[in-house]
Amino acid sequence: MNAEIIAVGSEMLTPYRMDTNSLYLTEQLNLLGVEVVCKSVVGDNLRRLVAAAQHGLFRSDILIFTGGLGPTEDDLTREAVAEALGAELRRDPEMLTRIEQRFAAHGWKMAPNNIKQADVIAGATPLPNPNGTAPGQWLAGNFEGKDRIVVLLPGPPHEMKALFENEVRERLRAKVPAAFLASRTLKVAMLGESAVDARVAPIYKRYGEVDTTILAGAGEVELHFKSRAATQDAAQRRVDEVAGLVEDELDDAVYSRSGESLEQIVGYWLQMRNATLAVAESCTGGLLAERITSVSGSSRYFLGGAIVYSNQLKTELAGVPAEMIERHGAVSREVAAALAEGIRYRCEATLGVGITGVAGPTGGTAEKPVGLVFHAVASDRGTDVVQRNFAGDRKRIRRFASTMALDMVRRKLM
Ligand code: ATP
Ligand code: MG
Repeated sequence: MNAEIIAVGSEMLTPYRMDTNSLYLTEQLNLLGVEVVCKSVVGDNLRRLVAAAQHGLFRSDILIFTGGLGPTEDDLTREAVAEALGAELRRDPEMLTRIEQRFAAHGWKMAPNNIKQADVIAGATPLPNPNGTAPGQWLAGNFEGKDRIVVLLPGPPHEMKALFENEVRERLRAKVPAAFLASRTLKVAMLGESAVDARVAPIYKRYGEVDTTILAGAGEVELHFKSRAATQDAAQRRVDEVAGLVEDELDDAVYSRSGESLEQIVGYWLQMRNATLAVAESCTGGLLAERITSVSGSSRYFLGGAIVYSNQLKTELAGVPAEMIERHGAVSREVAAALAEGIRYRCEATLGVGITGVAGPTGGTAEKPVGLVFHAVASDRGTDVVQRNFAGDRKRIRRFASTMALDMVRRKLM
């Protein structure tokens, strides 16, 4: 069975609010073995809502609405779905009593427009909402010869979730053919999306029953494998087989097998090796330290470091010789190495990291263009320096640089 989600509310058609309910609903539906094949956001407009409901009824087995169940005039989901189904709206006395009691319990006076929240589509079961006034609705029926399930849920995320968990999940489970979904995620650092895909597509394309999705961020690629089967074991075996072959192909570029972040993995390896880390950051301005310290327990291996934006502080805080900066420029292989070695020495760390580069958008030259970054990792066995020319805006270049540095530390420790 497939599903479609319609998020109702004009505010989600502005730049200020986003439909996040559908992410939760998609996750929950997937866990039931139901695939979401279409999602949309529709403003508070009766005609457009009716049209969206009609399209949904035509093409999807399960149709879930979220939002627009409030008491105000622009809350139109009930009316629109009733119209699309050609069904009446009937006032449900029990729901009305519940709504009245809710107001009374809080010592509030009920406004007359709240009454319409007790309107239920003919044939639908009202779903009591413990966290709000708007009840949800469940309707399983036949629409133009096709079996359809229609669910109406409120918009506020905590109400929507509680209603789904209490009232909708088990009703759906009873209707949906039993299927178990297994998933695996592999994360890869510092390989491009197309490079990853070129290497692994020949593998995952052989497995039609496993859905493979590739998600790319700045310097990181995630591979998601999903499969459905009649038992959990069978589903898990399928995804594990594909994930295992992909992992063999990508080898040590894979840093995570169970969803951990790169900064968590770096923390893991530092602890495994009983090592400590210090950083001297120029163009990343503390982003690397921020990422490392976002992991709880990072004080066990992260000592700290310095943000050395000016040449003077590169010398004063990380011991980079002034004449080295003069001769090679602040953005250079030599200065990156000296930053890593200097901060390692001054902080008495096992590993020191240095980052220097041109984050842009201004400040690039023909010789040192925007995106040029030098990353260095120093240890008692010498210093590695990697030069990269990243593409993108300032934010992306800085993110890339911090990811590169984290990945260098990971590889040094592995
Ligand atoms: P009520 O008006 O009784 O609170 P409702 O069902 O009419 O319920 P809305 O008025 O549509 O809900 O939305 C109420 C709140 O929930 C708003 O703050 C809105 O931004 C948020 N919200 C609505 N839909 C979504 C969604 N799909 N994802 C995330 N937030 C949402
Ligand atoms: Mg609304």
